[in-house]
Amino acid sequence: MASLWDVVPAPITPALNQNVKCEGCVVGAGIAGFTTAYLLLREKKSVVVLEARELGRAQTGLTSAHLSNALDDRYYILEKFHGGSGIKLAAHSHSAAIDKIEPIARNEKIASEFKRVSGYLFSHGRAAQMELAKEREAAYRSFIIGMKIKKELAHQSLHWDTDEPYHYIRLHDIKDDPKNEILIIGGEDH
Ligand SMILES: Cc1cc2nc3c(=O)[nH]c(=O)nc-3n(C[C@H](O)[C@H](O)[C@H](O)COP(=O)(O)OP(=O)(O)OC[C@H]3O[C@@H](n4cnc5c(N)ncnc54)[C@H](O)[C@@H]3O)c2cc1C
Repeated sequence: MASLWDVVPAPITPALNQNVKCEGCVVGAGIAGFTTAYLLLREKKSVVVLEARELGRAQTGLTSAHLSNALDDRYYILEKFHGGSGIKLAAHSHSAAIDKIEPIARNEKIASEFKRVSGYLFSHGRAAQMELAKEREAAYRSFIIGMKIKKELAHQSLHWDTDEPYHYIRLHDIKDDPKNEILIIGGEDH
């Protein structure tokens, strides 16, 4: 029986046998290379993609296409190497990548069946549950809450404590709403 991953033949492209000029040269026709080339083309740059083997057939051809910002390498482990700001950046960049992919799939009418669904990371056994608890702690340590309050209840100021990492309270104006403002309470940022 043919593998589900092999039902679409890889496009055959001729070998490059002449010099070409371009503004961007991408090496590797996997999802990373093709996305880079696509984004350069959208910026009206001329692009050449060089592939040693088949297009989209390496790791990209094997993926189960599960997009997530809950990283397999685990935030609590990544935090040891890259610190709190590093894991925050990793979470934001993965979220931004998914946000980038969604309109591309929609606008280009790619038959990828892109769909946002709830994700649940679960574990088996006691040791795995400990890992899950550590991951939850790393992912959710930082917090921020915003609530609308009447402007006369507080004066514009910034308060923060001496803890490491610190906690803070501040006020934020609401556009076109002179009577209210947002009270922001947060902390545990790394
Ligand atoms: C079984 C499996 C399941 C996976 N499931 C998921 C998943 O659910 N979600 C997820 O996010 N990720 C998943 N991944 C990982 C994901 O598929 C890869 O991270 C992603 O496809 C990597 O894309 P890439 O373009 O960087 O690399 P590749 O797809 O490997 O492409 C690199 C290309 O570069 C070419 N190349 C390399 N060197 C040269 C050179 N010198 N000159 C010319 N060409 C060159 C290669 O031939 C290859 O075609 C999975 C991976 C596997 C194997």
